[in-house]
Amino acid sequence: MNSWAQVAIPPLDKKFAFPNLQIFDTATQNVKELEKKALYRMYVCGITPYDATHLGHANTYLAFDLLNRYLRATGSEVNFVQNITDIDDPLLERAKRDGVDWQELAQSQIDLFRSDMVALHILPPRNYIGAVEAIPLVLDSIKDLQRAGTVYKVDTDYYFKVRSDKAFGSRSHLSNDEMLEIFSQRGGDPTRVGKEDPLDALLWLAQRPSEPGWESDLGTGRPGWHIECCAIALNYLDIDPNESSSIDIQGGGSDLIFPHHEISASQGKLVNGKAFAANFVHAGMIGLDGEKMSKSKGNLVFVSKLLQDGVDPMAIRIALMSHHYRLDHMWQQSDLTKAEIFLKDLHICLARMEVAPTDNVIRELIKAMADDLDSPSALSALQDWIDETNNGATGGSAGELGRAIDAILGIAL
Ligand code: ZN
Repeated sequence: MNSWAQVAIPPLDKKFAFPNLQIFDTATQNVKELEKKALYRMYVCGITPYDATHLGHANTYLAFDLLNRYLRATGSEVNFVQNITDIDDPLLERAKRDGVDWQELAQSQIDLFRSDMVALHILPPRNYIGAVEAIPLVLDSIKDLQRAGTVYKVDTDYYFKVRSDKAFGSRSHLSNDEMLEIFSQRGGDPTRVGKEDPLDALLWLAQRPSEPGWESDLGTGRPGWHIECCAIALNYLDIDPNESSSIDIQGGGSDLIFPHHEISASQGKLVNGKAFAANFVHAGMIGLDGEKMSKSKGNLVFVSKLLQDGVDPMAIRIALMSHHYRLDHMWQQSDLTKAEIFLKDLHICLARMEVAPTDNVIRELIKAMADDLDSPSALSALQDWIDETNNGATGGSAGELGRAIDAILGIAL
């Protein structure tokens, strides 16, 4: 699958020091300092392409873009990989409902997603991998799980024994009852007869009538969702035999903590014996009118619709960044209006002949983002600089500040 267009990151003067990033880890429930490394490996779960790209998606990919940008600004390399679940029940159901070909629906939404990511100035993944193209990798990972004795059949389908990972449940901190409830809400099948544990996860679904299938040693069928991400991450993220975890960061929206990330991590542990991810990072949910924005509720605000209406994509970025990435919040027109004013003021100030001193505000941006990606504080520091410039302060470099805003905050001016 082609990724989207490369995004240039302007260089920053060496006089600006970047402390190690502090980031909240869902598994330990603590803000952790990421040790300095030459290469970080980050996997962020992608969309199922039937309804791209609403503001909940945008908020998640923006959060990981800020993380990616910060790590790169420290001088490290980031191998960022993202999947796209281009075969799954929700895609087939939507195609059937709308009377369209599932592949055409997926392709149109993937194209839309890419163009939204470009507009939002999101750094592209090094590898953007579809579930369909990853089927050989998935089958290899299932073989590894079979060798580890963690696979069984129910009728013609294959399941993963989640309890074969002793750490199962340790990343999501839920009671068994909570796990069961969420599992059934998010595509799981806890009541299926023949399962050894209600939470065991589908690895390979045998072909159903009028559904697509791919031939394999397991019979013609298609992959489960959790093993798809596990296999793609383990195959594209430069696993280092000297490190205790396969990857550095497993990321996504907080609705993926359970079951998706919990089960992918358990599968990863059983595939190669290593902890799957050193850090689990999750972005908050975006709501509208008091409810979570979701496909099932039908209260989605699409990025492409806002862009069609003439909204500047950088204003969307700023409106989302005015809330901390981890906090759930409601999308409000007033945030967008404030972001548009802020963006206009920033443009005007950066175009002035004389601007307020800039070294300190750049250091404030770095300090804010190093502190668990505190983008609201970074924007607040920029607002102070705008006010100082408007009050006649001089001595700064607009060019240097513009480059820092682009490189660190991803706001292209
Ligand atoms: Zn995933």
